[in-house]
Amino acid sequence: MAQAAPFSSDGVGTVYLVGAGPGDPELLTVRAARLIGGASLIIHDGLVDTAILALAPGDAEMICVAKQRARHTLPQEEINALLVQHALAGRDVVRLKGGDPFVFGRGGEEMEACRAAGVRVEIVPGVSAAIGAAAASSLPLTHRGFSSAVTFVAGQCKGLTEQNWAGLAGKDRTLVIYMGVATAAGIADKLIADGLAPQTPVAVIENATRPDQRALRTLLADLGDLVTREHVRSPALIVVGEVATLADALNALPLSIRSSIGADCS
Ligand code: SAH
Repeated sequence: MAQAAPFSSDGVGTVYLVGAGPGDPELLTVRAARLIGGASLIIHDGLVDTAILALAPGDAEMICVAKQRARHTLPQEEINALLVQHALAGRDVVRLKGGDPFVFGRGGEEMEACRAAGVRVEIVPGVSAAIGAAAASSLPLTHRGFSSAVTFVAGQCKGLTEQNWAGLAGKDRTLVIYMGVATAAGIADKLIADGLAPQTPVAVIENATRPDQRALRTLLADLGDLVTREHVRSPALIVVGEVATLADALNALPLSIRSSIGADCS
């Protein structure tokens, strides 16, 4: 087992910003698995699967800084400070994040805080939820004839109303929305108002790559209702575009809606 790093001569630890992938421990990178297996301190967020945390040594100190919408266990500044504090005290820190640290993971802020304090940082990429969910539901994010561009967007971003959503989706494009469960209906309305066809195919993948994964398929006009009707819960991804028709998913769209929209999403 390769250790995180030889302890540095300056007595300052290294912070490893490690992507834990979307859930399935088999999707960890070899580097991530090694760092977790050799860790003495792991600071993780709530999206990290317990099966992955179980790979840490039994005597490793585990600190959860779980963040959920509207229920911040620790504000980001305090997480930054925690990383710096432990590293300056001479400890190597494995900072474990769901998916990839640099995709809606605030890894950039943590990296900057560490660097500003003179703490070394190594970034270990992870399989981001979009990539994991696509694989686990047989949904190619790009596909000849369907889509030649893919965009990742955060449904919880401040610019939700101003953002030109239509520019992100449309013919020959795939839009993947992270953190979009709570705002799904509003996003669908906005996309349609910006000119996207109401019958644009949509897939919703909840708990991707986990034993309780659920994939649903619908049309854009029905997205808000689907989320309510099927009690979709975070973490879930919303994929908008023709490629969604390829997903192995339950077709959750009621016949009445299908006929009123006049399109078949199967
Ligand atoms: N850094 C992470 C994203 C963190 S933002 C990454 O690269 O994947 C949190 C959002 O990611 C969730 O709201 C959800 O939209 C998405 N997500 C994370 N894990 C997921 C999973 N297993 N299934 C579906 N969506 C997931």
